[in-house]
Amino acid sequence: MPLRELLLAAAARAADHRERDGRVFPETGPEAVRAALGSLPDGPSPAEEVVDELVRVVEPALVATTGPRYFGFVIGGALDAATAADVLATGWDQNATNATSSPAAAAVEEVAGTWLKDLLGLPADASAGFTTGGQGANTVCLAAARHHVLAQAGWDVERDGLGGAPRVRVLASADRHVTIDRALRLLGFGTAAIVPVPTDDQGRTDVRALAAELSAVDGPAIVCLQAGDVNTGAFDRFPEAIDAAHAHGAWVHVDGAVGLWAAGSPRTRHLTAGMARADSWSTDGHKWLNVPYDAGYAFCAHPAAHAAAMAYTAAYLTGQDEFRAPSAYTLESSRRARGFATWAALRELGRSGVAELVDRCCALARRFAGRLAAEGVEIGNDVVLNQVLASFGDDERTRRVLAAVQRSGECWMGGTTWHGRQYARISVSNWRTTEADVDRSVAAVLAALRQAR
Ligand SMILES: *Cc1c(COP(=O)(O)O)cnc(C)c1O
Repeated sequence: MPLRELLLAAAARAADHRERDGRVFPETGPEAVRAALGSLPDGPSPAEEVVDELVRVVEPALVATTGPRYFGFVIGGALDAATAADVLATGWDQNATNATSSPAAAAVEEVAGTWLKDLLGLPADASAGFTTGGQGANTVCLAAARHHVLAQAGWDVERDGLGGAPRVRVLASADRHVTIDRALRLLGFGTAAIVPVPTDDQGRTDVRALAAELSAVDGPAIVCLQAGDVNTGAFDRFPEAIDAAHAHGAWVHVDGAVGLWAAGSPRTRHLTAGMARADSWSTDGHKWLNVPYDAGYAFCAHPAAHAAAMAYTAAYLTGQDEFRAPSAYTLESSRRARGFATWAALRELGRSGVAELVDRCCALARRFAGRLAAEGVEIGNDVVLNQVLASFGDDERTRRVLAAVQRSGECWMGGTTWHGRQYARISVSNWRTTEADVDRSVAAVLAALRQAR
């Protein structure tokens, strides 16, 4: 089969998957897929046979995350233009390391980065790196922070490493995302560098406690704040927290994997007030922007620190007149042209489309919470964003109801432990979700609840 036909057939299968209105979570598990794929073949096979087999074997085990009733983790769908652009990125197979390997990829990332800063209310002169996701973005931002706070203390961490360096303390709440811990491990700080800061019932950093902890720290410090807690959607109080951190000379990193997008709508922008005065910000494209996997962004108010931490060598700094190299702001050398899909998502939605997407998801989350609460379900958070925590009684019953909902195939939501209790966590992050989808999902939850009672 010619490549043209093969690609058209593959695209048609992908479209079929996205249009299907079947079970949200499959009945086929990973073991069945593994068994069906068998062992490494001895010889070659025609391309169409390979693709046919892949589709036949994996389709029954696909999760309908692009569909409108998937509420698990924080998994966005994939906008049409962004999906098509990502298909092109694969077909074009550009290496987005620099403008010599791909002028197109380098330029599109730069433009998309500028648009993102504009949309999210970040400083126009901040640097931007296109990462694999929030984990990558947190790691890149904290590497820039490491460079900066140690340089201020007279230490060249890129040359001399951390052995013998002044001790850096990282102030972060117990409700921080787990990817912060992994970043700190990878960067050689170790999780013992964390100074835990207490939070309130929504997971917001206690600013007075933060200030007190900061004054007890002797030496370089990094403060990690959150825009949109992964469980509650809560935002730290940026103006006060950033003032306290900067008064101490600390670097402020904002993990905004979900919540940075609140800045994209006039209705939720107030939640991010003051956030632009931080030193670095990370967010995801594959969550709320509905870019296909994978896409994340690392922004830094100190481009020189960002580049010093990430560029291959210091020699990069002499090449400033060359076109911005995407790989000078990320962990990878050779890399996918991630900018195409992000640019396409922003181009498809425009400023008003992003605002509508954010508003719609927040309104649907409130609808979900309101309908459940009206039936006596306990909602465990203030629904300020797109995240809802629901408890169906004690932890054991919550787990049982959740398992029944998941089995129903009507919708899918995951479980979480929040401040010691079990909850079902509902994240409304998909551009395709409608009120009817929420109502159908609420009905599935209530049916499971009646069974459990
Ligand atoms: C999802 C999330 C991350 C990690 O993002 P990935 O894209 O999964 O790497 C980090 N922080 C928060 C608050 C998140 O919600």
